[in-house]
Order: sequence, then structure tokens, then C-alpha cells
Amino acid sequence: MATTGGTALILFTRDLRIHDQPALAAAAAADRVLPVFVLDDAILGSRYAAPNRLVGLLEALQDLRGSLRARGGDLVVRRGRTVEIVRELATAHRVTSLHVARDHSAYARRREAGLAAVAADLGADLVVHPGVMLVEPELVRATGGGHFKVFTPYWRRWSAVTPRAVLPAPDAVRLPADVDPGAVPSLTDLTAGAPAPGLAPAGETAARARLAWWLDGPIDAYDTGRNLMAEDGTSRLSPHLHLGTLSVTEVAASLQPRRPGHEAFLQELCWRDFDHQLLAARPDLASVDVRTKDDRWRDAPDEVAAWREGRTGYPVVDAGMRQLRHEGWMHNRARMVTASFLTKHLYVDWRIGAWHFMDHLVDGDVANNFGQWQWTAGTGTDSRPNRMFNPVIQGERYDPDGAYVRRWVPELAGISGKAVHQPRPAGEGGLFDADAAAYPPPIVDHRAARDRFLAARGAEAEPA
Ligand code: FAD
Repeated sequence: MATTGGTALILFTRDLRIHDQPALAAAAAADRVLPVFVLDDAILGSRYAAPNRLVGLLEALQDLRGSLRARGGDLVVRRGRTVEIVRELATAHRVTSLHVARDHSAYARRREAGLAAVAADLGADLVVHPGVMLVEPELVRATGGGHFKVFTPYWRRWSAVTPRAVLPAPDAVRLPADVDPGAVPSLTDLTAGAPAPGLAPAGETAARARLAWWLDGPIDAYDTGRNLMAEDGTSRLSPHLHLGTLSVTEVAASLQPRRPGHEAFLQELCWRDFDHQLLAARPDLASVDVRTKDDRWRDAPDEVAAWREGRTGYPVVDAGMRQLRHEGWMHNRARMVTASFLTKHLYVDWRIGAWHFMDHLVDGDVANNFGQWQWTAGTGTDSRPNRMFNPVIQGERYDPDGAYVRRWVPELAGISGKAVHQPRPAGEGGLFDADAAAYPPPIVDHRAARDRFLAARGAEAEPA
């Protein structure tokens, strides 16, 4: 919806871009625009404010500010309570319309309700725009109404919806007079925590470069490459899609479904929406089982510590957990294997694992992280909830040469080929070289763990 005349305020949230930005495009049609981002104390004081994501956020804000300045505008940065700050700015600048992207977490809904109250008090319009999801939940309804609980029928209906058109970046952004833009803080202003050493660059400029690289060839090998953990075979666009430094609508519009890899990639974007429609229907997704199995999870602090630190004695699990600490990102296959290991081999509560991921992931996202953790734990939307991934077989299949393990588990770097996936208890012969002696024996026996899990669930074994 275009807004003409008056002063528009756009509240950026996790749509930190100028290209294909529906809220910005509408606000920029007004005579004057106040582009605002609030570092919200409620989020900064919570576990959602992990250092790795804060680094990405600050880079994205600097990049966005540069783009807005290049168009004659600026980014107004404040810290405090979002709704209160919007109220102050909107009152001071006699704002006639407020623009924000729709989002689906419980927090985002409360924020939207607060903005609606501000708009009503000021006699301004609140315009809520799309921009976070590709297809909004109400456009894809399950037979009989409600949300989808299984992916395949969702994919079928979702693919039949025509997405909205991609919007150009605004040419000009005209600020009201006398605006103090405020400073983008430094990381140490926001957290005492240290970020991971191997973070990828963030912000819209980096996002667009990565998308161009991806579309220029690597995507063609996605059908096979996406599961190979040692390769750069996935887009690594997840942090950009999470912060909205890239529009999912623009990414999807760039695809050519008849080319190899493109449809499989579109399906992953659909998974992203699937988790969001689940969150929209289940705002308690981060804390409550979607489909409970009445689990009586084990309390196993030493095993959880070994899992977190990547010393379970299962090489592919340990490689994934160490990649997470080093890069703030983990390959999807490794996420599935490590999450399955925690919830099924160790039979530990998925919330413990999901929060550890949130502490580190640059793409850590309420919908995707908690949705996928519940999927893996079998409390969510997996139609085969009791499947278990055998970490040795997963390693041999998706890291066939063992390169992923050798990259992240240096104790095993001297072992060549897929032999690196066979855990050998230290001291029991079969140790492959001197360094491997420093690698721990498995903390749990695969067969015993499987029997324990299946007994707890009262289930039969299923192929992984
Ligand atoms: P690509 O393979 O290039 O896929 C393209 C995009 O599709 C991704 O960027 C992402 O937006 C989406 N996507 C891909 N796979 C999935 C999936 N299984 N579910 C939902 N969306 C998907 N993804 C997050 O963005 N944030 C999270 O916090 C998150 N936590 C996860 C936790 C667990 C336990 C598991 C199993 C998966 C999780 N995922 C999460 C999904 C997936 O692992 C990542 O999106 C993917 O690894 C990101 O890498 P990529 O951008 O190279 O993916």
C-alpha cells in the first residue's frame, strides 16, 4: 500500500534491507520518512541476544544506514522499549502513518498490538506489510482449515500460490528536519560475550553478493551437493534470510524451476515458511511439544557438556558441534544428526539443545530453530517421529571421504578416508595414529542408546 503526503515512520525489525522491502517502499512514497530501528531492551536482556547474532545485526544496521544515506535519508537508531520509542518519535515528528513488517513470534505480535495502540492514539494509520515470509499463513490452508502439520501437502498448496511482485529499492528517502540519527552501538555496548572467530560477513551488501555467487552456478549442483557436509554445497543464505538482509521473495523470484537444483532449493524456502506457519499457529513452539510423546527426558549434565563441546566420541557429531562454535553456523545434515543424537541417543530434552543452538547460530530463528528441533526430537511435525540417525552411517554417507570430520576434529586429521567415522575406544587397538589417542571413546553405545530410546517411546525401530 503506497502512502502519500505527511510523514511516514517505518520500523525496521528483521527486514534490514532496501531492496524488495514492502514497508520501506510504501513509507518512501510519503513526503518525509523516518526509518527507525530500536535495539529493544527486552530482547537484549534475553538469551536471544547471542553475540554471534548481535555481530550480524550491527553489521546489517551499518550497511542499511549507508544505503539510506546514499538516498538522502538515514537510519534512526535508538535503544529502549520499541513501542515507547516509536510513540515518542511519532509524536515528535507528527507521523501520519506507521509501517512495519508482519512477523509471527509472540513477541512480534505483542509489538504489533502496541504499534496499533500508538497509531490509534495519534490518529495515524498502521500499515502491516508482508516481507518476512514468502507466502503468508492464511494463503495456504489445510483441508478443514487451520495450519499444516505435515510438510508434503503444505508444499503442494504453497507451490500453487503466486508470490507478490518484487519491489525496487526506493530512489530517494526524504528525512524530516532535525532528526538525530543516533549511533549504531558497538558489540561491547551490548554484550560481554565473545563472538565466534569464523563468522561470515553480514548485511545487505554481503547478502546480495552471496546470492549472486549462489545463482551463478553452485545452485545447479544443489540436488546432490546439499547433503555433503564437507562441501560449500548450500547457499549459506540463512543468516541473511533470518535478519531480512535478503528478501525471500526476491530469492524465490530469481529461481528457474526447470534448471537442476532450483526446485530442491525452492523446497527448502518452503520449509522455512512451513516452520513460520507452525509458529503462527503455535506461538509456544519454543517451549511446548507440538505433539507430545510424554517423554521423561534424562538429566545427564556430563553427557550434555560432552555434546556441547564436541567430545561425544562420534566424529560427525563432534565435527558439527565444533563447526557451530567456530562459525556460528552448522550444515543442515550435521544439525539433524547432532540434534537427533542429543534427543534420541542421549534422550535429553530438545529445549536444552535448541537453546544451545540459539546461543551460537547466526541464523538462530524462533520458527526454524525450535520447529526443526521439535521435528528432529519427534515431538513436532516429522511423520516418522521415532526415527534415529546412526551417526556412523550418516558420516559415511554424507561425508564419504571424511573431509568434514578431519576439518573440524583435528585429533582425527591423520586418519584418511571414511575410516575416520568409526569410533574406536582409546586404548582398544585400532587407533589410527598418535593424535587420535586424544580423541574420546563414544560416550554411549549406539545399540544400547537405540534400545533405551525405543523403550522410552514404546516404539519399534525405524530406518533413519
Ligand atoms: P540452504 O540449503 O541453502 O537452504 C536455503 C534456505 O532454505 C535456508 O537459508 C533456510 O532459510 C531454508 N531452509 C533450509 N533448510 C531448512 C529446514 N530444514 N528448515 C527450515 N528452513 C530451511 N534454519 C534457520 O534458518 N535458523 C535456525 O535457527 C535453524 N535451526 C535448525 C535446527 C535444527 C535442529 C535443524 C535440523 C535445522 C535448523 N535450521 C535452521 C534449518 C537448516 O539447517 C538451515 O536453514 C540451513 O542449514 C541453512 O543453511 P543454508 O542457508 O546454506 O541452507
